[in-house]
Amino acid sequence: MKIERPTLTEFICTECGCHEKIPTKIVLQMDMSDPGDPSYPPMFYCEKCNGLMKPVYYVGYTGIVYRYDN
Ligand SMILES: [Zn+2]
Repeated sequence: MKIERPTLTEFICTECGCHEKIPTKIVLQMDMSDPGDPSYPPMFYCEKCNGLMKPVYYVGYTGIVYRYDN
């Protein structure tokens, strides 16, 4: 099964709502290097408010689909 992924993954801050696009390659690398709870997607901290940023839509390396809609 081939998983189609966009070049960039859009993240949204759960605190201030700002958006940031992060190369999907980097998100995947984080995902694979972090053996934590697979029910959570890779997350970043917002540069503006230090809030948690979640991917709006991201398919994990195991094929799990993560969605965040506010
Ligand atoms: Zn923020």
